[in-house]
Amino acid sequence: MDRQTMKNQNHLNVIRQFTHGERMTRQELTKRLGLSRPTVLKSVDELLAKGVLCESGALASTGGRRAKTLSLNAEGWHVAAIQITRKHVRFALGDLFGEIGDVEKQTLPFRDETEWYAELGKRFEVFLGQEGAAPEQVLGIGVSFPGIIDWQAERILDSHVFHIEQVSLDRFAKYLPCPVVVVNDANCACLAEQNQDRAKYFYLSLNESVGGAIVSDHKLVEGSHCRAGEVGHVVIHPGEKMCYCGKAGCADPYLSTGVLLEDFDNIDDFFEALSAGDAHAQAIFEQYLEDLTILVSNIDMLLDTDIIIGGEVGARIEPYMARLTEKVSALDRFSREVDYLHACRCKTNSFLKGAAICAAGYFDWRLLK
Ligand SMILES: [Zn+2]
Repeated sequence: MDRQTMKNQNHLNVIRQFTHGERMTRQELTKRLGLSRPTVLKSVDELLAKGVLCESGALASTGGRRAKTLSLNAEGWHVAAIQITRKHVRFALGDLFGEIGDVEKQTLPFRDETEWYAELGKRFEVFLGQEGAAPEQVLGIGVSFPGIIDWQAERILDSHVFHIEQVSLDRFAKYLPCPVVVVNDANCACLAEQNQDRAKYFYLSLNESVGGAIVSDHKLVEGSHCRAGEVGHVVIHPGEKMCYCGKAGCADPYLSTGVLLEDFDNIDDFFEALSAGDAHAQAIFEQYLEDLTILVSNIDMLLDTDIIIGGEVGARIEPYMARLTEKVSALDRFSREVDYLHACRCKTNSFLKGAAICAAGYFDWRLLK
């Protein structure tokens, strides 16, 4: 890690201690972080000079000098989020707590070429300008990307969606004007579900492709090859439908949204027809729930934790959760009651929200630059 990266990381570590409105002295902060005192004090001084932290009041003291307390001055500071999909990019500006504002969607089909990254950088700067924010006020950008990302190597290992392998994350860092963190899209959506009372869960992402992510002790479980939770390629019907990964019978070809859209223009049309009692939509969805039941039941046997049904399907599945739970219960030989299934809470822009949360430094991300 170079010096600038290290410095940004230290800043984020400090900021992260204050994102629930905490106030504490330098001494308490040093203790919490478990870093050397000079490192923490240096970071604090720089963040005070930038105006990100402020000194406020003093804690009641038992005598002698009263120590000033530090808190987060969220005013005027931002994080940003960028979502990259096949044909579009989306931008959003967020506050230091990871809450995002309006989303801007632009057409920019992804190409792994210098011109594309340069164009992304240019458009992002225009977006910031429109939002009235300067790059210096943005502490970090979280980028949601559909691919397997290796942190240690700072590379995208593989993206089936874009047919690319071994792409250095520097390409993003080079053209974006702020520190950058690039995160797998399902991991972003997963983190958007995180909150104080959810320390452990599995997030099942049901979109154009199927993915998943595991959170344990408020942290993402990445796995030895950065692909923990990729349940789209768990086989549920051996030897049957071909998956884009080259295997037959994976969950992906049974549970991606394409299955629902064979005779419908888009996902909203499908769910409208379903709720209006359209027999064709009902037959499709009944089979979909059958296949989902097998996958969910397998995940439960492996992890024994809350399972959140997310993605475009998860955002619309609430009225059908009772039916799904009933089906899963029929397979469950261990629980008296199936109480571990939940529809996602974050129903729109979950990729951007999760990316903003990553940029706000809630997790152990390494920022590039
Ligand atoms: Zn597969």
